[in-house]
Amino acid sequence: MTPREVLALLEQRGAMLSGHFVLSSGLHSDRFIQKFRIFEDPPTAEAVCGALADLLRSSKPQVVVSAAVGGIIPGYVVAKALGVRDIFVEKEAGVPVLRRGFAIAPGERVAVIEDVMTTGKSVAEVIEVVKRAGGELVAIGAVVKRGKPSLPLPVTALLDLPLRDFAPDECALCEQGTPISDPGSRRAS
Ligand SMILES: [Zn+2]
Repeated sequence: MTPREVLALLEQRGAMLSGHFVLSSGLHSDRFIQKFRIFEDPPTAEAVCGALADLLRSSKPQVVVSAAVGGIIPGYVVAKALGVRDIFVEKEAGVPVLRRGFAIAPGERVAVIEDVMTTGKSVAEVIEVVKRAGGELVAIGAVVKRGKPSLPLPVTALLDLPLRDFAPDECALCEQGTPISDPGSRRAS
C-alpha cells in the first residue's frame, strides 16, 4: 500500500477531521486523524496493518508491543500478519507496565507499534517497559507519523503526514476563540 493509497483510505473512511483539537501530547491542531475510522472496519484494518507488517518483516520481530488502548487493535493486526505474539502496555497508578501475565523474554526481538504518532511520548514509554524486561527493540512502526519523534530507532511509517501543531499558548484557533472540537474521545491523538 503506497502512502497515497493510505491517505486516500483515511479520507474515504472519514478519518481526517478538521476543527480545533487538543492532541494527547497537549498540542493543539486544526486537523485530527480519527484512527478508529480505520480500525473499526476489520478488512480496512487488515489491509493497512498488513502493509505496515510487510515493512517490518525484515527486522524479524518475535513479539509486537503497543500501548493500550489505541495501540491494541493495530498491534494485534500487525502481529497476526507477522505470525508473532502480541502484547500491550497499560498504566497502573499512572505507571506504564505489562499486566495480565504478559512478559518479554530477555533478548526477545520486539517491534513497538503505534497508530498515529505525534511526539512519540507513549511509544517512548512502551520502549522503557521493553528495555526493563530485557527485550531487544528491533523496529518501531506507525500507521501515520505526524511529528518528528525522538526515539532510539527510526520510525517505519506507512504514511508520513506532518500536520500543523501549536503549543496551547501559541494557538491561532484559541486566539480566535474557536471552541475545542470533540472527536468522540476525551483524548485525541
Ligand atoms: Zn487551540
